[in-house]
Amino acid sequence: MIEAGRTAADHIAADRRVVWHGMRPFKENDVPLLITEANGSWITDCEGNRYLDGMSGLWCVNAGYGRQELADAAYRQLSSMPYYPLTQTHLPAIRLAEKLGEWLEGDYVVFFSNSGSEANEAAFKMARQYQQQTGHPYRHKFIARYRGYHGSSPGALSATGQAVRKLKYEPLAPGFLHVRPPDSYRRPEGMSREAHQLQCAREIEETIVWEGADTVAGVILEPAITGGGIIVPDKAYMEEVRRICTQHGALMIVDEVICGFGRSGRSFGHHNFGVSPDIVTMAKGITSGYLPLAATAVKREIYQAFCQKGEYDHLRHVNTFGGHPASCAVALANLELMEREKLRERSSLLGARLLEELGAALAGHPLAGDVRGFGFMAGIELVEDRQSRKPAAPGVMQGIIDSCRRRGLIIGKNGDTVAGYNNVLTLAPPLSSTDEDLDFLLAALLEALEEASPA
Ligand code: PMP
Repeated sequence: MIEAGRTAADHIAADRRVVWHGMRPFKENDVPLLITEANGSWITDCEGNRYLDGMSGLWCVNAGYGRQELADAAYRQLSSMPYYPLTQTHLPAIRLAEKLGEWLEGDYVVFFSNSGSEANEAAFKMARQYQQQTGHPYRHKFIARYRGYHGSSPGALSATGQAVRKLKYEPLAPGFLHVRPPDSYRRPEGMSREAHQLQCAREIEETIVWEGADTVAGVILEPAITGGGIIVPDKAYMEEVRRICTQHGALMIVDEVICGFGRSGRSFGHHNFGVSPDIVTMAKGITSGYLPLAATAVKREIYQAFCQKGEYDHLRHVNTFGGHPASCAVALANLELMEREKLRERSSLLGARLLEELGAALAGHPLAGDVRGFGFMAGIELVEDRQSRKPAAPGVMQGIIDSCRRRGLIIGKNGDTVAGYNNVLTLAPPLSSTDEDLDFLLAALLEALEEASPA
């Protein structure tokens, strides 16, 4: 709804004067969507146009929009005890940490912060301090993958393997190394998928050995690379990474910022591979985006290294708003809602249908090089032609995104990641989407892709 006395155009003019938007190249007559209402999987702009939000905002509104019980949980908490820092404690944080333990299916201790970037920054500090306090003073390096994303702050951006996100912000933090992602669509000709997956995992091992295992603190990875182009590993890859980390004394840090909270069809993405990380970072879907919150969960053995008696042995790290009582209360209500409505199972069902129908409809499409999915999340890698696999040009990508928007569907792409490879359309709708929502999404997307087809 638009305020009396001010038109939508007035608001946009004010926006253009005073609001600086992330990830938006400057264009003279650029008009951002001004979203004023949202319900279920649908958002409405200031002119009353409705769109199906095929990206759940920024991959986070897992339970869908318009959940009164989440707003009520925040209201109740703000009314009774609006803020107290977690240098002491409060009930919403205690209850949520216990609930996260159930969802994680392991013995973890939870440190709260506000964003995915912060959760990863905390993980890096914890990993280094843990290594120092357990007799490994030289273990400070982290290995991550090219194309992976871990956040925007200097440490998290150093771990990010997307050169375009770093350009003009370097030098960043030293000690972050990158290896090849398990992108089987672009594996060498003649190599089997299985061999390629193992080779990619072993590149981590080679890097550890060549760097000197006693200099490596940890390996950080998303269960599936998400914003970098929906690159989904095989179980064997993840098992091999787990073996390598254990064998070489590196902590396995799994970034569940997008894959967590049902997106993958399970509680957390790593549950699909049967591996148990040493550290799990999470944000976004923890509150379904209703309030900011993030967490870094560490295995109890790691936490115990911080319970020694030395003057500097405790974690000297805090964020004023980390684990805000209202955010924790909303997260708890969100997880209860997801359990009650079986949204993890729903994610798995919807994702299977999405992948199957996209795969069948695009099997002969000249631009659709590869269709990939992980739970209720999918990527369509667009190419100039299927033989050369040359990535589709940015104009083609934008044309399809605009065409979807004209049809009332918001989709995403892997934007500003690595030069020349921003050619994956992305989908991550709310897990609460109805069958009719998915019908609409598929129809609009396939029409837009048909329109773009050169054939
Ligand atoms: N890790 C991953 C996998 C992400 O997708 C993101 C955000 N898109 C982050 C970390 C950083 O989270 P935030 O934007 O909340 O700092």
